Amino acid sequence: MKLSKILCGALAAVMTLSLAGCGGDKKTTLVMATNAEFPPYEYREGDQIVGIDAEIAQAIADDMGLELVIEDMAFDSIVPAIQSGKADIGVAGMTVDEDKLQNVDFSIPYTTAAQVVIVTNDSPIASPADLEGKTIGVQLGTTGDNFAGEITDATVERYNKGFEAVQALGQNKIDAVIIDREPAKVFVSENDGLKILDEDYTVEDYAIAVAKDNQELLEQINTSLTKLKDSGKLQEIIDKYINAE
Ligand code: GLN
Repeated sequence: MKLSKILCGALAAVMTLSLAGCGGDKKTTLVMATNAEFPPYEYREGDQIVGIDAEIAQAIADDMGLELVIEDMAFDSIVPAIQSGKADIGVAGMTVDEDKLQNVDFSIPYTTAAQVVIVTNDSPIASPADLEGKTIGVQLGTTGDNFAGEITDATVERYNKGFEAVQALGQNKIDAVIIDREPAKVFVSENDGLKILDEDYTVEDYAIAVAKDNQELLEQINTSLTKLKDSGKLQEIIDKYINAE
């Protein structure tokens, strides 16, 4: 009796293993690539990666019946990770733009975002038009990086982390930083003497990146995202991290 129970348990364990692993191609994990240097969308709290994107991805994985695995990497490694199949999705406050669309597909947008300009409180820069000829800090490989490169006579300083660009501004090494609005608010609140210009640089959409040849996954992500929008859960996640002004 006892022995048969043990054997039965062992058999069940082997069956589970073969279903999850070697047997067939039934996927059990959803691997998300991100750059956990981008509060409030993704950042570290102890050894956990938390934030709006982490929670949205978790809700999508739950809806798809998959286990979410988060891989933290440099922002400009996310698109290559998706292309090579190392990651299934990129959720990293990723702006939908022409550059990225050449290499990956995007889901429906999950939020509206903006690029803003950060300057020192005593800066002569009063609007984005004043950035001509200035030294501008950006995070490498971001939309802010692209925009800064288009400004006449501007010198672009590229940093691995957005926070490092903001620190350099605080130390008067550069004249301004172009970066996404919500991280800008967090970084400015952590550094004295800095402000965000009233006029946004651009308005844009964030969406989830998926490999170009993976139409099935893209449709599943869109279905789950639509459910999250319709149920109010998406707004609930955003409101938890971003206080309305
Ligand atoms: N939204 C910007 C982009 O997509 C920056 C994102 C980020 O730094 N995580 O390029």
